[in-house]
Amino acid sequence: MIQLHNVSMSYQAESTALTDVSLKIPKGDFVFLTGQSGAGKSTLLKLIYAELIPTRGQVVIDGANVTRLSRKEIPYLRRSIGVVFQDYKLLPNRTVLENVAITLEVLGWGKRDIGKKVYHILKSMGLEDKVNTTPLRLSGGEQQRVALARALVNDPKILIADEPTGNLDDENKEQILSIFKEANIRGTTVVVATHDRRVIENSHRRMIRLEKGRIVEVADVQE
Ligand code: ADP
Ligand code: ADP
Repeated sequence: MIQLHNVSMSYQAESTALTDVSLKIPKGDFVFLTGQSGAGKSTLLKLIYAELIPTRGQVVIDGANVTRLSRKEIPYLRRSIGVVFQDYKLLPNRTVLENVAITLEVLGWGKRDIGKKVYHILKSMGLEDKVNTTPLRLSGGEQQRVALARALVNDPKILIADEPTGNLDDENKEQILSIFKEANIRGTTVVVATHDRRVIENSHRRMIRLEKGRIVEVADVQE
């Protein structure tokens, strides 16, 4: 589903954020990317959803070589990838329902189907009482769940999340993690960047550790 072949990424001439990274994440996998701040986790995620194009090497997502896609083709690729940002990036002047509906509006869904599908996912995340609220009136954990609902409402092939549990307490972390697991069970390939060791240890999934832009460890976290 996700393949990187000898990928390097430099933002500036002198420094590289990623150096010669190769990896394969099969369809249906669930992996954590870990490593210290500055290790290159966010850069790797941005390469997967084609926000960045690598300086060297190839990125292949669901059979498409991202490096060779035209500017027009990139939005099509992105439709199959749900993204959750660290700071949520919810629209403050729209309701929770509208924030999640955007994903389906872009895909051209009809209003009725959007309403049903959005309500359904918000309900599954325990947000049915919040549909008409604006994001700033929600707790951090609730905002993160809205961001997850927006990323998952169209059952994407891939879910990418950057430090999704960063500001959350243990109970909210558990909740977010179980949403990832459910999405994964439904067939979504999940890639989560985190430096939260406890989240990784409690998850029993695969872990890829980056250090200074290189993969230094790949391990299965055992039960
Ligand atoms: P992580 O997500 O693991 O904290 P990043 O991928 O954000 O790591 O950063 C990797 C390296 O790339 C760091 O040295 C960082 O300073 C650098 N970097 C990240 N984004 C930019 C940018 N937009 N411009 C220049 N350097 C950047
Ligand atoms: P199901 O979960 O059985 O597929 P729906 O998701 O269609 O059912 O709806 C469950 C309940 O939520 C129904 O009572 C329906 O009327 C209500 N509902 C559906 N969409 C919305 C919405 N956009 N706003 C408020 N209530 C809704």
